[in-house]
Amino acid sequence: MRELEKIYIFDTTLRDGSQTQGVNFTLDEKIRIAESLNKLGVDYIEAGWPGANPTDTNFFNKKHNFSNSSLVAFGMTKKSGRSADNDPGLSAILNSNTKSVCIVGKTWDFHVDVALGITKEENLENISETTKHFVKNKREFMFDAEHFFDGYKNNKDYALQCIRAAYDEGATWIVLCDTNGGTLPFEVEKIVSNVVKIIPGNKLGIHTHNDTENAVANTLSAINAGARQIQGTLNGLGERCGNANLVSIVPTLILKDFFKKKFKLKIEENNLNYLTECSRLLDEILNRKPNNHAAYVGSSAFSHKGGLHVSAVEKNPKTYEHINPQIVGNRRSIVVSDQSGKSNILSRLDSLKIKIDKNDPRISKLLDQVKDREFIGYSYDGADASFELLTRRLLNQVPDYLKIKKYEVRVHKNLDDIDINSEAKIHLNIDGKDIICEGTGNGPVHAIDSAIRKNISKIGKYGDYLKDLKLLDYKVRILNTGTSATTRVLIESSDNSGLIWYTIGVSPNIIEASFRALLDSIDYKLFKENAPANI
Ligand SMILES: [Zn+2]
Repeated sequence: MRELEKIYIFDTTLRDGSQTQGVNFTLDEKIRIAESLNKLGVDYIEAGWPGANPTDTNFFNKKHNFSNSSLVAFGMTKKSGRSADNDPGLSAILNSNTKSVCIVGKTWDFHVDVALGITKEENLENISETTKHFVKNKREFMFDAEHFFDGYKNNKDYALQCIRAAYDEGATWIVLCDTNGGTLPFEVEKIVSNVVKIIPGNKLGIHTHNDTENAVANTLSAINAGARQIQGTLNGLGERCGNANLVSIVPTLILKDFFKKKFKLKIEENNLNYLTECSRLLDEILNRKPNNHAAYVGSSAFSHKGGLHVSAVEKNPKTYEHINPQIVGNRRSIVVSDQSGKSNILSRLDSLKIKIDKNDPRISKLLDQVKDREFIGYSYDGADASFELLTRRLLNQVPDYLKIKKYEVRVHKNLDDIDINSEAKIHLNIDGKDIICEGTGNGPVHAIDSAIRKNISKIGKYGDYLKDLKLLDYKVRILNTGTSATTRVLIESSDNSGLIWYTIGVSPNIIEASFRALLDSIDYKLFKENAPANI
């Protein structure tokens, strides 16, 4: 059997990814992401630009001990008119003491003329002197050939001279960058094939941006043409339209026969089951909602709707799934909807671990209830927890918890005031005792939520169970136009266990819809914590 060639994965989430608008990692966040990348098993973690800002400098000043990944410091070629030894930028990188360094330099003559304003010869000298400097200091040297593809198209000879300047002085990797992200897959394949004639593929890397939605495709094309290092980011994080998404590229290389038969990665197949968690961790740090439709790791990536699909998936998941979701740490989800038949309900019950005989008449009753509710505007597609409650209530498995006797919401605004204030008063009854909870907020839903949350200690035996309940997201949809509009509210909740659940409420009144969704969220939390019934 032929020996498998190694492909190296170089993550630049902490450097290129952090250049995204609105992204500003703290030191702790950088460390958490780096630890997670190390756990996944990438070869290189580019952690930032030492000396460029305090966070990056502090990161490199700290002692790190990563078992799988090498840390890489980033910087740019030396300035014209001074020696590499006397360039403070290069000194900061050397002083960071990483085994590997990645240095960006110009390879597009247009940029040399316009952006740097130096001669082409000076730029070549800056590249070769910088390379020499790091090689002499025993660093693994990588040269990021900025705008290489545009440079190649504009002045092929000069672009090639630039990368040779680094290669001839001992660079370990020459990384071809599609910095503006405008190159297409067949162009990448052709250009990389030509470069491989001059510099061997196992010395070539690829760094692409997603400005034509082709960053992943361009990366795969470059590998096909011979490149053996891939630069990209988690979830494709990066400025403008993002960088190449490693979360999509890595499983493709490991799982798809075309690549699997030729290549091996440091990340082993059984480590891929950490991929989904790794992707979601970044979203959590960025406080972003994960993309449901993300390849491999999105919550919809293996979700099935429609009776026919579902019954086929039940027979054999391969009918509608390109891989087994568990391999990448994701899971299959069966979406219950109006279109679905009994098989949908059954498999959804199965995934909730609700045991029921498939001929139990209550299944038809549940299906009818789902259909009736969907008719008035409910949608259980995205509201797992409400579906589970509906089912378990029908099966008498959910006790009554908070008993709401009535609630009032008051919204008021003084005309001289900028703020609109809301007050909520909820009359509860727990174990025969009347309790009144009051709260204020910047909107009616916020006021209802705070009436419960701020009075946790008052609500007796349920207080402890609800302490760590968090509302992550709140979405409102108006379902039909005109005055008879119905409102659908979807609430995303979580707690310290990290579990996320979704609940839904529908009513012609937005406050009532919100209240129902909120109560379902509370009931779900109490149910999963095995809280006692209200007696
Ligand atoms: Zn980039």
